[in-house]
Amino acid sequence: MAMFMKPGEDIKDIDKGIKNKWRWAWIEDVGSDGKPFGSWCQKLRQPGACYCTVCARKLMYGTSGEKVLSRHELDPVHKATVRALQHTSRLPGATATADIPPSMTDRVTNLKIRLCSFIVELDLSWRMDF
Ligand SMILES: [Zn+2]
Repeated sequence: MAMFMKPGEDIKDIDKGIKNKWRWAWIEDVGSDGKPFGSWCQKLRQPGACYCTVCARKLMYGTSGEKVLSRHELDPVHKATVRALQHTSRLPGATATADIPPSMTDRVTNLKIRLCSFIVELDLSWRMDF
């Protein structure tokens, strides 16, 4: 069984008992950056969970539904990672069905670590100034 579900696959059994059940229409909705949520979001074969392939992060939508996707798209780390990836190379996961090669995950993890230390440094110097 693949970790991700294919668009259109039956989610009834997976999302049984979940308040806000997954809808495949969500990944076709276009976010504020002009790209569909499916360009980074995949449905995990787990109840109430989907996955951001850019951040390599699991997102739980069971309570708030699609709002979780639009909110995650505005997450500063997500935005910075998308921007950084666009500058280095095209996203191979730009479609909802493409599998992300491991090297991409490694690169994203590297970027995230660098970004986190950058934020920490900024935060520290900011606090020292005031
Ligand atoms: Zn993300």
